[in-house]
Amino acid sequence: GKLEAGWHLDNSYAGLPDLFYTRQDPVPVRSPRIVAFNEPLAASLGLNAQALMSDEGAAELAGNRIPEGAQPLAQAYAGHQFGHLTMLGDGRAVLLGEQVTPEGKRVDIQLKGAGRTPYSRGGDGRAALGPMLREYIISEAMHGLGIPTTRSLAVTSTGQAITREEELPGAILTRVAASHIRVGTFQFARGAGTTDDLRALADYTLQRHYPDADLASGENRYLILLQEVIKRQAALIAKWQLVGFVHGVMNTDNMTLSGETIDYGPCAFMDTYDPATVFSSIDSQGRYAYGNQPYIGSWNLARLAEALLPLLHEDEEQAVKMAENAVETFAGLFNEYWLAGMRAKLGIFHEEPEDESLIEELLELMKTHRADYTNTFLALTFDRLEGTPLHGIEEFEAWHARWQERLGRQSETKEAAHQLMRDSNPAVIPRNHRVEEALEAAEQDGDYEVMHQLLQVLADPYAHTPEQAEYAVVPESTFRYRTYCG
Ligand code: AMP
Ligand code: MG
Ligand code: MG
Repeated sequence: GKLEAGWHLDNSYAGLPDLFYTRQDPVPVRSPRIVAFNEPLAASLGLNAQALMSDEGAAELAGNRIPEGAQPLAQAYAGHQFGHLTMLGDGRAVLLGEQVTPEGKRVDIQLKGAGRTPYSRGGDGRAALGPMLREYIISEAMHGLGIPTTRSLAVTSTGQAITREEELPGAILTRVAASHIRVGTFQFARGAGTTDDLRALADYTLQRHYPDADLASGENRYLILLQEVIKRQAALIAKWQLVGFVHGVMNTDNMTLSGETIDYGPCAFMDTYDPATVFSSIDSQGRYAYGNQPYIGSWNLARLAEALLPLLHEDEEQAVKMAENAVETFAGLFNEYWLAGMRAKLGIFHEEPEDESLIEELLELMKTHRADYTNTFLALTFDRLEGTPLHGIEEFEAWHARWQERLGRQSETKEAAHQLMRDSNPAVIPRNHRVEEALEAAEQDGDYEVMHQLLQVLADPYAHTPEQAEYAVVPESTFRYRTYCG
């Protein structure tokens, strides 16, 4: 008989008040062809890879056929884009529904690049193949690094060209997310809805992402929601900083309530350590520079807090005080998570007051001597500093001695410290030249083998295999890597 794809779609988002979405089917495309498919992810969602990779499956992932149980919709949201509040919404994405997994988890299945919607403004609703493959690679790399993120189930080429500065092949990404509720969704609710609408969204978010907080009785559940989102975002951004990830477009519509990384447009990983690192071609002011990300995170959460004010307290002054107190915890939480992660990267098990200065000194040396961020930590892990820019530098040798003393003071063995470092310092990140190489082979030659190999190496970055060492090499040329909003 016919293979079943395994869809178990629910549409709970459509239970929200009408203003939060518009029913919208994807716009069909000419000739769908699946060019990338994530079999392990499919399996974990209870989906049948073979069925989804058939012609019928490709038709579903391209939006030419509506999967059983799907009630496609485009979500409404707002967002501060580079500091300016705008009404947005899914301008080129359609939510098929929520897949209920065999373990009872609920995840959004969204088609990105599925055609125009009521929120498209001047856009064509489409996406180009290159950027969708890029999102696939980097989101899966983030998952491999153990960082909460939306996932990529498939990229389906459409057989239709789209017009940007040039003609480009079109594609659709099947994005999987805990949800697509954004800080901007709350800004939309506050700006366009009633307090009842805002409460409906907050209740929905609590139920979906913070069921424990939701059950807490006698407490202010909306304050708990704000506090929990702040915690998750502090933890998330600490993880970004620890691996050198530069998101590139931390607009409030690109910050989730679930605590997952979302929207892989102009993101890239830092090579040489420099807090001022910016890749995005449109971020001329460096608003979203690597070193600015924690600050922007806190700024965005203040926008969430503002949107929640009517739910926090009847008395506005009280509400503002609660919101401010909550947002103020971000810096401390971030620092705590970041320090814990940095200690682990240096093989340190327990806290000592001077750890922060030990870490800051290393980063300062890395910056001064233009050391590669990822590879410096690898060199420390495997004690192969020779050949790195820090080797032989007097201040660094002094730092190294101080670090060794610090390790000597802890009761854990050298082996345990080494293992902790192996587990905390990735052998490989998606280096810009490797990502470009994979995209070029795919886009220009239809050769997806380079991308598959890269994905394999990135799937378990803490394995430290000999093959991964090859992918750790940084090219000699220090060309200025630029990214664009796909
Ligand atoms: P982003 O910068 O990716 O966060 O997108 C910002 C907004 O622009 C979102 O509302 C998108 O849906 C919308 N958008 C981006 N590209 C397109 C497009 N090609 N057509 C329509 N809307 C788009
Ligand atoms: Mg976005
Ligand atoms: Mg985007």
